[in-house]
Amino acid sequence: MIPDSITALVATLAKLPGVGPRSAERIALHLVQSDPAAVKQLAGSILLAREKIQFCTTCGALTEKSPCPICEDSRRDASLLCVVERAVDILSVEKSGTFHGKFHVLGGNISPLDGVEPDDLKIADLEKRLTGGPIKEIIIALGTDVEGDATSNYLAKRLARGGLKISRIGFGLPAGSGLEFADELTLSRALEGRREML
Ligand SMILES: [Zn+2]
Repeated sequence: MIPDSITALVATLAKLPGVGPRSAERIALHLVQSDPAAVKQLAGSILLAREKIQFCTTCGALTEKSPCPICEDSRRDASLLCVVERAVDILSVEKSGTFHGKFHVLGGNISPLDGVEPDDLKIADLEKRLTGGPIKEIIIALGTDVEGDATSNYLAKRLARGGLKISRIGFGLPAGSGLEFADELTLSRALEGRREML
């Protein structure tokens, strides 16, 4: 018989991304046998991070302060805007070290089958940033799967306007996947080898 509190902990851990039932059990059993002070510290870090982190109201990045440090950084090229699917994709692009512009998080890809329509994404916010702003090029850095393709094409058509270059990365990225599967060098090459869409 496994004590109820352990069963409950396993069930909670198993809801985390990438944690299967076996790993959840292993982590739970490790925690209940750990030094209580260490467990308290872990719980405290989780709570603190959750309380501090919010989405940047301008770009959608995860940040402790909005606007985020990237949006506030005047040394970054405000004429270049990289459009990504999720906030974590910003970290992937940042790690590649190639991009020195600003970001915009879309919040997903268009996927009619999953009920995700253009209005569910932060496209209107993106259009607002284009109005009267310094943006000269939009680099679409969405995944190379069907939804990523469809969303990129939709964006290119909808955002098209005089004086704005719209390009898309893709070169060398694994087919049918998102940015998190690309290593830094591949992503760096994909950014440098971006192709103009319009
Ligand atoms: Zn921001």
